[in-house]
Amino acid sequence: MSVQKTCVVIGASHGGVNFATALRKEGWEGAIILIDRDPEIPYHRPPLSKAYLTSTDGIEAYHLKSEESYIKDNVQLKLGVEVVSIDKENQQIILGDGTSQAYDKLVIATGARPIIPPIKGIQTAAHLYPLRTAKDVEDIRTALLNSVAKNVVVIGGGYIGLETAASLKKMGAEVTVLEREERILARVTAPEMSTFFQELHTANGVDVLTSKNVTAIETENGVNTVFCEDGTSYQAAVIVVGVGILVNTELAKNIGLTIENGIKVDATAKTSDDDIYAIGDCTYHFNPHYDRFIRLESVQNAVDQAKVAAAAICGKSPVYNALPWFWSDQYNVKLQMVGLSQGYNQVLVRKDEDLKFSIWYFKDDVLLAVDAVNNAKAYVIGTKFIKENKKIDKEKLIDTSVDFKPLNLLQS
Ligand SMILES: Cc1cc2nc3c(=O)[nH]c(=O)nc-3n(C[C@H](O)[C@H](O)[C@H](O)COP(=O)(O)OP(=O)(O)OC[C@H]3O[C@@H](n4cnc5c(N)ncnc54)[C@H](O)[C@@H]3O)c2cc1C
Repeated sequence: MSVQKTCVVIGASHGGVNFATALRKEGWEGAIILIDRDPEIPYHRPPLSKAYLTSTDGIEAYHLKSEESYIKDNVQLKLGVEVVSIDKENQQIILGDGTSQAYDKLVIATGARPIIPPIKGIQTAAHLYPLRTAKDVEDIRTALLNSVAKNVVVIGGGYIGLETAASLKKMGAEVTVLEREERILARVTAPEMSTFFQELHTANGVDVLTSKNVTAIETENGVNTVFCEDGTSYQAAVIVVGVGILVNTELAKNIGLTIENGIKVDATAKTSDDDIYAIGDCTYHFNPHYDRFIRLESVQNAVDQAKVAAAAICGKSPVYNALPWFWSDQYNVKLQMVGLSQGYNQVLVRKDEDLKFSIWYFKDDVLLAVDAVNNAKAYVIGTKFIKENKKIDKEKLIDTSVDFKPLNLLQS
C-alpha cells in the first residue's frame, strides 16, 4: 500500500498558489497544505497600488483563484496562521499556536516585507502605511476618506511609490513624493526614463521631489510634518512608505539553508536541503540569460519558479530558463520591461510618438533589456532579440522610418 505524502507550502501568494495548482497538474496525489499569515483568500498583489487602491471593490474582486477551486484541487488553505519555525530533522513546521505539521516536501514561498526605514518619529506617525497587503490598501483608503486634509507624502520614488502616487492623485489627494536619490527610479532605469516619469507626474499634478532624504517625522494632533535633510518640511495627513523590501529568509536561515541575497536555489528551485524548495521573491537563483545569480521581485518569476518546483518534486527534470519581465501602470502609461539592464554601457531611445517610445540597453553589441512605454511591439521585439541572443542594427532601431519588424532590424 502506498503511503500518501504531504507537501506543505509556506506563503500563499503568487508563488505558493501557482505552485499548489501546478503540483496537482503534475500528478501529486498526496496532501497539499498552503499556509499564510494573511487571513485573506490569496489575491493579486500588483493591483494593490493600481486598480484596487482607486476602486471601492472588496479584495474578492482580485482573488488569485476562487475559493471553490482550492476545494476542487484538494488544496488545504490555512490562512491567518504564522509559521514560526521549521524542524528539519523531524520534517515538520511549527505554527504560531504551538501546533506542528509534518511534511515530506516543503516549499518556502515567503516573499518579502516592506522596509520601514529608521526615521526619527516614524513609529509614532499618524496614518503611516507601507503597501504590501490588502489590509494596507484598506487602511490607506480609510485614512484618506476620513481625513479632511487630503495631503499625502509618499516616501520613495520607485515603481510602487510612483504607482501609489498616481492612484492617490486619482482619488483626489494632494500628493508629494520624496525621493532620496537625485532621480526617481535610479536603481532600475536609465536617466531618460526617470525624466519621463518625473515630467509625467508633474503634468498630472503630483510633486515629485528628488534629493530629499527624510530624517524625521513629527506628529501633533494627528497631523504629520515630514522633515528632510536639506531643511525642508512637508505636512501630511497620510504617509505611504515605499522604499523597498526585505526578503523573508529567516525561517530558512534558522535551519542553515544557504542564504545569499535570498534563499539560494538551483535550476529546479531546490534549496541546499533535498526536501525543501523555495520560489518567488525570497529566492536567489541562477539566470542562464545573464549567466549570474539574481533575485527578482516579479509575479512572472514567482509563477515560473512555481512550475519548475512542482515538476521537480514530481520527479521531472525541469530547468529554470526564464527571461525577467515586469510592468508598471501610471496614469495613461503602460510600461513594459524585459531583461535586466544592469551593466549597460549604451542606451538608445526609439521615439515613435510623444507617449510611445522605447529605451534599449546595450552592453557593447549585446542587447540586455528594453523598457517600452505604451509600445507592446517594442516589448515583443526586444524579448525576441534578447531570448534569441541576436544582434540588432542600432541605426535602423532608432530610425522610425524603418518598418518596425524583427527582420528589418537584424544586423547584417
Ligand atoms: C503594491 C505592489 C505592486 C506590485 N506590482 C507589480 C507589478 O506590476 N508587476 C510585477 O511583476 N510585480 C509586482 N509586484 C511584485 C509582486 O507582487 C511580487 O513579486 C509577488 O507577489 C511575489 O510573489 P511571492 O509569492 O514570491 O511572494 P509574496 O507575494 O510576498 O507572498 C509571500 C507570502 O508569504 C506569507 N508569509 C511570509 N512569511 C510567512 C510565515 N512565516 N508564515 C506564514 N506566511 C508567511 C506572506 O504573508 C505572503 O502572503 C508588486 C508588489 C506590490 C507590493
